[in-house]
Amino acid sequence: MSASSKLLVLNAGSSSLKFKVFGVQPFAAGIGGMFDRIGDAINCTLKASAPADLDGGKGRKWEIKIPAKDHVEAMQRILDFIKGNVSSAFAREVVAVGHRVVHGLEISQPVLLTDKTIGKIREAAVLAPLHNPPGLQGIDAAEKVFKGVPQVAVFDTAFHQTMPSQAFMYGLPYELYEKHKIRRYGFHGTSHKYLVEQAAGMLGKPVSETNVITCHLGNGSSIAAIRGGLCIDTTMGMTPLEGLLMGTRCGDLDPAAVLFIQKQLNLSVQDTDTLLNKKSGLLGLTGSNDLRAVIEGAQRGEPRAELGLAMFVYRVQKYIGAYWAALGGKVDAVVFSAGIGENSSVIRGLVIGPLKGMGLELDVAANDATVGGRCGDIAAPTSRCRLLVIPTDEELCIAEQTLQVVGFQNLTGATAA
Ligand code: AMP
Repeated sequence: MSASSKLLVLNAGSSSLKFKVFGVQPFAAGIGGMFDRIGDAINCTLKASAPADLDGGKGRKWEIKIPAKDHVEAMQRILDFIKGNVSSAFAREVVAVGHRVVHGLEISQPVLLTDKTIGKIREAAVLAPLHNPPGLQGIDAAEKVFKGVPQVAVFDTAFHQTMPSQAFMYGLPYELYEKHKIRRYGFHGTSHKYLVEQAAGMLGKPVSETNVITCHLGNGSSIAAIRGGLCIDTTMGMTPLEGLLMGTRCGDLDPAAVLFIQKQLNLSVQDTDTLLNKKSGLLGLTGSNDLRAVIEGAQRGEPRAELGLAMFVYRVQKYIGAYWAALGGKVDAVVFSAGIGENSSVIRGLVIGPLKGMGLELDVAANDATVGGRCGDIAAPTSRCRLLVIPTDEELCIAEQTLQVVGFQNLTGATAA
């Protein structure tokens, strides 16, 4: 362990690899970016940005077209890029790698990656065929490039493992749970965990005494009810499809509607999956998955945009109400985060405005001013609970959990391929 020791956080998608480097002592965020369109010989791009203190107070951004046929090659290119632009010794400086893994079944803590724990992630891929295989590719790539460096998986599902069975079970035959692990798991857990910890700090309370409703509203959206720092319910289910209306996902839906659509349109399982995950939500209703375009359309009076906007807002309100009840009305704060929650004062206003009867009141000026990565309390002094805007930082949370699992003493240093 030395002053130059680094921690690398990876978040692998099916054709992308996001990365962020952290200094370990002192713990601080460094260069980060994303390899996009892996496997596309023409459009494969590496984008990166370095914070100001890495580059003589200016900060720096890069966008480079470089082909990478798979995640291993992308990982090697990222390594070469950082060696060439930030630190020539980077390969030797990396002392641990933390991975975002979407589905961890009933694993409730981050785990050190071993053959056994990697086997568990493969097992979970049966329930998360879209999400876990890219995570495994990221793990494989890092293992090949950073040989012998400890690697940790941090699961999106882990934080929600404290949900009681009344919240996580479906009303299906019990054997489906026992034999096939069919239950609600919840996602965005790293973000919800980060948000309650930050909220506790802002409220001046211990996390273990903090009750919040955290709204992670982005292209994928979920809300969690958190009592005493522990999740008691969340809107996503066995997969990230359940709950709120999202960019391209339908959210809550009568399962009989799926059976009917499948039969009526003669769709395969794969086609149905694509319809519900990729062609529905705001995209399916309005033609755009970007809420900014939907808001603009609604402002122009376009009926479908008005409908999409109203549905998005209504479901958020409905779940805030449900979780208010789940928490017995003892709520310290409603927290807004992610692309929409952090940036759209319009959505926050539409969601909270009609909840005055529950005692929730916005400070309009604070709401308008708290955008673009700002953190703050946007509640009026008379509001029954605080309304907080907190920019989420999943990479930071993964980095902290990785360090906890590995422990400073065990950090060994890297031998890059
Ligand atoms: P995320 O998935 O957290 O990166 O959030 C991305 C989404 O945030 C985009 O698809 C946009 O719909 C949404 N978004 C970003 N800025 C705004 C804004 N000012 N108003 C409404 N939606 C926004």
